[in-house]
Amino acid sequence: MNILIVDDSATMRVGLARMIERMGHDARVAVNGRDALRLYQSERPDMVLLDVLMEEMDGYRVAREIRTLAGDTWVPIIFLSSREEDQDLERGIEAGGDDYLVKPVSFVVLHSKIRAMQRIDEMRRKLLRVTDELETANRELARLSHHDGLTGIPNRRFLDERLLAEIDSAQRNQKPISILLIDVDHFKAFNDHYGHTMGDACLIDVAHALRRACRRATDMAARYGGEEFVVLLPNCEGSGAERAAGIVLDAVRTLSIPHSKSEHERVTVSVGVYTVIPSRSSTPTELLACADRALYQAKQSGRNQLALGHDEANAIAVLS
Ligand code: GH3
Ligand code: MG
Ligand code: MG
Repeated sequence: MNILIVDDSATMRVGLARMIERMGHDARVAVNGRDALRLYQSERPDMVLLDVLMEEMDGYRVAREIRTLAGDTWVPIIFLSSREEDQDLERGIEAGGDDYLVKPVSFVVLHSKIRAMQRIDEMRRKLLRVTDELETANRELARLSHHDGLTGIPNRRFLDERLLAEIDSAQRNQKPISILLIDVDHFKAFNDHYGHTMGDACLIDVAHALRRACRRATDMAARYGGEEFVVLLPNCEGSGAERAAGIVLDAVRTLSIPHSKSEHERVTVSVGVYTVIPSRSSTPTELLACADRALYQAKQSGRNQLALGHDEANAIAVLS
């Protein structure tokens, strides 16, 4: 350890420094309070041995200033004083000291006190390390629980949460919200012909293409399940959603993933588009059902295309 000795008596400084070095630690010496604070800042010692009675700035004040300088980090401070009244000890602890020894102090006593402090310090460091690791693990867990294991894009759970929040915000601000429901065409045939591994690779490529197709920071592409995806477009009116769906269709076509069982010879998707200014009673399920009906239309009309959703029951459905 690097131990800072603060004492205005040269004899004490020399004596203490010798003891510290005999214990196998490094000693730094400060001749007064101001010197101590300067050395504390430049050296960041592991422990401070602090004389109480000093000219100009006494040990109590030095301790308080060190605590302020140290902020969230803790450094053990042991007071050394020839005063042995109960109140002196009380003041020392009050000022931020961790222990109080009466001078002259023997090698054995100082050695034991330093070892005890060192043990507390090690426990504290270990606790900080574990807390840090726990925070990292929790962040990773949160990320995993919100992302799809195969494609790495947000999963259904994340989508449901975002959708709920976005519907609420769109309803309050009376702004449109758009969703694209995307389904890979003839994917069962793709899997049957090329195998499941190629199928997985295809889903990853499609997911990344969808993510690239999201232009605004608030847009989100998520895996809805199986070979179905959703692109959520907050604050986006019908014409914008239709344009976005066109970009999605093109993005997947340009991947040019061969699909000999498709009439287009490559992997394509169908997109159901739905735009609405939500009412108080709107739910994610309802919006997705409307987009799903549009998707069905796109499939019926020959796949590899988009269809716009119409919700007769919802008078405020906004379409371009
Ligand atoms: P359509 O054009 O009407 O959408 O036909 P389709 O064959 O794409 O639709 P269907 O629902 O019949 O088949 C979906 C296929 O997607 C079946 C299933 O095995 C496959 N699938 C779902 N999830 C995964 C996955 O994670 N990996 C792979 N490789 N295949 C998956
Ligand atoms: Mg499907
Ligand atoms: Mg499909």
